[in-house]
Amino acid sequence: MSEHYDLVLAGGLVFTMRDGEEPFFATVTIADGRVRGIIPGTESVWDSNRSSETAVYDVRGMYVTPGFIDIHAHDEFGDGDIVEQALLRQGVTTALAGNCGSGPLFPESEAAHANPWINLYYLVGNRVLRRAASQNDRYSPCSGEQRRVMCDLLGESMRLGAMGLSLGLEYEPGASFGEICDLARIVAKFDGLVSVHTRFDDYRCVDAVREVIALSRDCGVRVEISHLGSMTMSHTDECADAIDSAKSEGLPVSFDCYPYDAFCTNIGSAVFDDGFAERWRGKGPEYLEAVSGRFAGKRLNWKTFTEMRREEPDGTVIAYIMDQEEVERCVAHPDCVIGSDSYYQGDGGAHPRLSGTFPRALKVLRKRGYGWNGAIKKLTSMPADILRIDAGRLDAGAIADIAVFDPEKFTDRATYEDPFLPPDGMRMVITRGRAALEDGVLSDAPSGKLRKK
Ligand SMILES: [Zn+2]
Repeated sequence: MSEHYDLVLAGGLVFTMRDGEEPFFATVTIADGRVRGIIPGTESVWDSNRSSETAVYDVRGMYVTPGFIDIHAHDEFGDGDIVEQALLRQGVTTALAGNCGSGPLFPESEAAHANPWINLYYLVGNRVLRRAASQNDRYSPCSGEQRRVMCDLLGESMRLGAMGLSLGLEYEPGASFGEICDLARIVAKFDGLVSVHTRFDDYRCVDAVREVIALSRDCGVRVEISHLGSMTMSHTDECADAIDSAKSEGLPVSFDCYPYDAFCTNIGSAVFDDGFAERWRGKGPEYLEAVSGRFAGKRLNWKTFTEMRREEPDGTVIAYIMDQEEVERCVAHPDCVIGSDSYYQGDGGAHPRLSGTFPRALKVLRKRGYGWNGAIKKLTSMPADILRIDAGRLDAGAIADIAVFDPEKFTDRATYEDPFLPPDGMRMVITRGRAALEDGVLSDAPSGKLRKK
């Protein structure tokens, strides 16, 4: 009796990421959007079950892994398909979007992403909630009534399928601990996740991390500390130690990082409020490069900084203030998972993390002593376990989200000069059982899905 397969990946080295399993040569069969079987051996054991419609790919010499999971993405700025496609080209098949306080209310995310290139989960952002409750001043605390409105809106989004809440505390200095506790308790009721862009990115960063730990402890909520490397200049090890001891207390605290020594955000944000250069030990506007608008491609000075901040507050700047060695240490921390923090506002300005995070993270991990299995785990089963989603492992019956790449050639090419350059060496990406990318060419139609918690 023969079984029908839609797609067969024959003879690659398969990383299932099932607990404790080392990679082995196998053929992966796929039907109806799911993995049907993983048959050990390099031989054509699938041949007897082959029907004429089966697309068979010889992937000998390739690594076959679960599609990567991006735990920290932004796909909420009206950027069309650019972020999704940039992630897909790196092997990402699932992302958590709406981070740093920016995620829309869930019905809006659902309407805007009916047909995405990858699987998307969404967070609701505290900035969005504050505006919806008519708190338009980022420096002011919310009233009791405003807090009640925010809780109602968040509860409604959670009921409809949001993954949780994102806090952009550096961006909304007025959000008090009491205010974010109210919101976190709603998320806890739904067993959701709170992702946190912490309050301070300077010498106070350890306190900022402790605030998130206290949030988890006081509200009984799972927390994910966002892009740690970009928030903890010179103090990353202390912050990681604080997280380690919270975990040993049994608190559900996790963190992510992208493998670059510069961050990227809007120049009008509170990040660049008075005194930022002092906070960063003298790193002033000359450490900032405009990547959109009138000053695109230029390092700033106080005069152009002030002009851009006033006239183009939504303009994008890259801040070259972190230390590569410190960031890499963070990426290589055994508990750190990978998040791209990719975003694109449609203004031409972007950070290479948009197109290069995942191959680059693998390179950093390999360089710092990780084997392939351990490195791939940080991009697949580890984030899946944090998010508690059905992804990140290859097994019979699992949704067929798969990356197939050449281990010798898989490398990032994106640079600060050209942040849109896709990586080399990604042979194929399968999203929900369909070949979404083949040798750099996208398929005709997206096959991802807006996912509900
Ligand atoms: Zn952020």
